[in-house]
Amino acid sequence: MDEEDPIGWARNLFLTADDQPIYLDGNSLGMLPRRSLERVDRLLRHDWGRGLVRSWDTWMDLPAVVGDLVGTELLGAAPGQTVISDATTVNLYKLASAALDARPGRSVIVSDSANFPTDRYLLEGLAQARGMALTLVDFPEVEGPSPELLAPHLNAETALVSLSHVDYRSGAMADMMAINEVIHRSGALGLWDLCHSAGAVPVELDRTGSDLAAGCTYKYLNAGPGSPAFLYVRRELQRSLRQPIWGWFGQVDQFAMGPGFNPVEGMARFQSGSPNVVGIALVQEGARLLAEIGIHRIRAKSIRLTSLLVDRFREWLAPLGFALLTPTDPERRGSQICLGHPYAQGICRALIEEGSVIADFRPPDRLRLGLAAPTTRFVDVHDAAWRIKEVTESGAFQFRGDRAVGIS
Ligand SMILES: *Cc1c(COP(=O)(O)O)cnc(C)c1O
Repeated sequence: MDEEDPIGWARNLFLTADDQPIYLDGNSLGMLPRRSLERVDRLLRHDWGRGLVRSWDTWMDLPAVVGDLVGTELLGAAPGQTVISDATTVNLYKLASAALDARPGRSVIVSDSANFPTDRYLLEGLAQARGMALTLVDFPEVEGPSPELLAPHLNAETALVSLSHVDYRSGAMADMMAINEVIHRSGALGLWDLCHSAGAVPVELDRTGSDLAAGCTYKYLNAGPGSPAFLYVRRELQRSLRQPIWGWFGQVDQFAMGPGFNPVEGMARFQSGSPNVVGIALVQEGARLLAEIGIHRIRAKSIRLTSLLVDRFREWLAPLGFALLTPTDPERRGSQICLGHPYAQGICRALIEEGSVIADFRPPDRLRLGLAAPTTRFVDVHDAAWRIKEVTESGAFQFRGDRAVGIS
């Protein structure tokens, strides 16, 4: 399968070592593209070191230029609707706050009780600060949110619905278009978290009628730890929305240093302060690389990778007490497989300690295996499943530590 892989060449564009464990955590922190090393070296030595403050001439446009690259190549967003700024948490907060302001008189925020913690926390904070209610809906554990199960929770009181497109634990992928329709029928705005979608599956923000979205770039976009996030606002909404952190990067005629805040037209109004230039340059390298490989080819390989792992699960791991906690239909999942096992935490730790497989553990009992298509080989999937089987059979995991590793 690796010999016939049309994007098998892509792995060489990343830094690898022969003695490296099988890396199945690219959905937590993606691997380092070799070109990023050169890019940062040039940026630091030449642009900053020599160019000094003059280089801001080229840096000022980076949030929009790289935002458009990410938007057009990976998110199905026409130019002028995506910028790079801040962290995902901050962007979600800004967009949620702007959405609530745009729906005065409505008092309920709706999300998923299994949504990523930061999403739930920031919505909880917003609800508390505004005296609103936060409704966390319990969707099926494996299949995640569906329009049918969401609809009964939405009505004329709903201001905002915030969901993850691909669930960080189960990997379930929501039907964006159908859910947007249900949200819009209630008159609310929708906010999508794309952390486990961007760079892994083709997202169609414009075509599905999405309102708002944000997501990170250090997972499938391979832009490095803490790299800045993206945010998307549908063009027709931009003028009517105001995010809460009024800063000079969102101001008309920024360097006139004028007296009062007057937000610019377009996406720059969703920026606040100085952009993280080094981080955005890394996003640019990561996104260019994925664009070169092609998001549809990435998706095609990802489906074959996750399907291979499901086959190995059925053959080797189900008999050992593992449960598949990811949808079996490949069209309904992202690029990861989640396996439940009472000793998942110890098994994950034992694999990392023996230096064979890096995966991650998510409470309460999940082993999460991220299969980033540009960097994962089919043989990696086969070998990793075999090691999981052997470690589980050996019982070597039983007294391992109890700490989760990595960032979601
Ligand atoms: C990784 C992740 C985040 C991370 O947010 P940060 O602000 O970058 O820490 C948010 N949401 C989801 C669903 C994630 O998987």
